[in-house]
Amino acid sequence: MSEVLLSRRALLKRSAGAAAGTALGGLVGLGTDLRPAAARMQQLRIKEAKAYPSVCPYCAVGCDTIIHAVDGKIVNIEGDVRSPINQGNLCPKGAATYQLHVNPNRITQVLHRAPGATEWTPMGLEDAMDRVAELVKKTRDETFVETSADGKILNHTLGIFSLGGATMDNEWNHIHQKLMRGLGIVAIENQARI
Ligand code: SF4
Repeated sequence: MSEVLLSRRALLKRSAGAAAGTALGGLVGLGTDLRPAAARMQQLRIKEAKAYPSVCPYCAVGCDTIIHAVDGKIVNIEGDVRSPINQGNLCPKGAATYQLHVNPNRITQVLHRAPGATEWTPMGLEDAMDRVAELVKKTRDETFVETSADGKILNHTLGIFSLGGATMDNEWNHIHQKLMRGLGIVAIENQARI
């Protein structure tokens, strides 16, 4: 197969194989049988964990994952070999989902920067939701257009643009676009369509 025609999936498989080969090739070359150790590592990593089927949150490919959790805490996320989409493979971004989950730098509370302020300050979720609702209503009231200059019915606002995030799933997006269209918002986009 020419390199130009190499599929993305085949490339990922080859890359993973090459990386593993670099790390382990020396030991294997010395005659060490790593199979028992590898099997034991895998067993310890997810021992007594419950497995939950899920979907990578990042892009529209929608690769299936298995989430392993012990006592309600996620201990591992990997590709689901049963998936007809990714057959157990994940791209580097999807393979890092676990690291995102446990990353201490992940922001877990709402931050607000008031008009004119230079610093972000924590804000309660309820207060933040109220603030968003207030601004959406205000903007809609100020920009809503019922008819065009030549009398055609429009009932829309061009003052609000909705941009969804990659971790929003199909069901959320369905409800979300209904709300947006109900408000008369016509500029609606989302990065992922899981
Ligand atoms: S980002 Fe996630 S869904 Fe997209 S190709 Fe990578 S692993 Fe699959």
